Amino acid sequence: MIPSRAFANQTVAVFGLARTGLGAVRALVAGGTRVIAWDDNSTARDLGGQEGAQIMPWREWPWEEIAALVLSPGVPLTHPRPHGVVDHAARARVPVIGDVELFAREIRPDPGKPGRAPVIAITGTNGKSTTTALVGHILAACGFDAQVGGNIGTSVLELSPPSAKTVYVLEMSSFQIDLAPGLSADVGILSNLSPDHIDRHGSMENYAAIKARLMRQVAPDGQVLIGVDDAPSSAIFTQLSAAGGAQAHPVSVGKVLGRGIFVVDGALYDATGARAVKVMDMADAPRLPGAHNWQNAALAYGAVRPFIADAKAVAAAIQSFPGLAHRMEAVGRIGKTAFINDSKATNADATARALAVYPDIFWIAGGKPKDGGIESLSGYFPRIRKAYLIGEAAPAFARSLDGKAPYAMSGTLDTALASAAADAAASNASAPVVLLSPACASYDQFRDFEQRGDAFRAAVARLPGLEKVA
Ligand code: ADP
Repeated sequence: MIPSRAFANQTVAVFGLARTGLGAVRALVAGGTRVIAWDDNSTARDLGGQEGAQIMPWREWPWEEIAALVLSPGVPLTHPRPHGVVDHAARARVPVIGDVELFAREIRPDPGKPGRAPVIAITGTNGKSTTTALVGHILAACGFDAQVGGNIGTSVLELSPPSAKTVYVLEMSSFQIDLAPGLSADVGILSNLSPDHIDRHGSMENYAAIKARLMRQVAPDGQVLIGVDDAPSSAIFTQLSAAGGAQAHPVSVGKVLGRGIFVVDGALYDATGARAVKVMDMADAPRLPGAHNWQNAALAYGAVRPFIADAKAVAAAIQSFPGLAHRMEAVGRIGKTAFINDSKATNADATARALAVYPDIFWIAGGKPKDGGIESLSGYFPRIRKAYLIGEAAPAFARSLDGKAPYAMSGTLDTALASAAADAAASNASAPVVLLSPACASYDQFRDFEQRGDAFRAAVARLPGLEKVA
């Protein structure tokens, strides 16, 4: 844990006592701060109390004594409208910050000056977790103490304090960026931008502006890597290059760049120097399949280069990346059939990435439907040998597939898997894939996408004849 001393001997209020809020309470108390806290959930309140916070309904807080409000990123700061506690803080002129801001004040006390440990901050609409985990993996493989957290896994203040070899690798959601105006990273990564969480940000422009802000906050002697394959991210790259702050590197999959980092014909090239140098073939990184993962790999490669001079060592580490659970995770094989858990694909965009990778797919899809359904996936329907539909979305998905790809109304994940496994084995496909990539949220049948993916993995493990994937 990293004690937070910025408000020692003062009073700080914490609203929201989930993972990051509890981490903030612990760190603040350890740093000598008096903490007042509230959460609407009584179990969370109990946990906050156990960590040393004084539990008090927020409407009763003594605002004149409060030096800062630490807000959970899940609580609306601006849209659709600010939570009442945010309005109260504004009236009392109390700054509203998040746990990452407390972290920043410990680790980078003087933005722009060398900090006590380097920070790599990663954001974007898709690929954040994969890129963050991959950066952490490369750094660890090359002898660094990679402290990986933020929006993924461990909350920032629960990470270990810095040692000589520490590099902090932080996944940042847009909500966390909003609450961390003082985070000045050494390396910033923006993977891509497409409309997401717009209800919470008001507009696409506002959403993009928040992501751009994290890049602009990067230290002037730092580096920024931006995926330039979508228009909003490309515009941000152009602005940053013109602004003359941190050095900005463009990253592309599919385009040869005169300067930057790119993947073409399945090979990763570094053209940040005088000429383009081939780094590796992406086919040698089997746990990073698909063009989207090549983007993640290219971004991660660029992010670690300031710390690791040996490009071959970086390539070797990318090759040995074990992958993340629930993102095109290979969970087993029976004969020629591979079983892939892509439970994290909770919208059609994410599922498109998986459907693009495999030619003969026995596709398990459905769950709690999202706007737009799977109409946007029709270009991939020829790859679908058969779809096995589950959950509330099944009837709508069936209408989209009707006449274009065979489907079965399976109802549950177990039934879908049994049918898909049998059909794949009996098929004439040389490399059939049974793919769970639901294009839906999970809440109708599961607690979250992790539980859905775990259920799939466990059900695959029960199939007769399964060969474990190493
Ligand atoms: P995030 O943390 O941003 O949600 P993840 O790495 O967890 O990103 O990936 C979420 C889903 O998005 C995956 O199922 C994958 O299909 C898709 N994805 C991953 N990386 C990218 C990328 N660079 N571009 C587009 N889609 C991606």
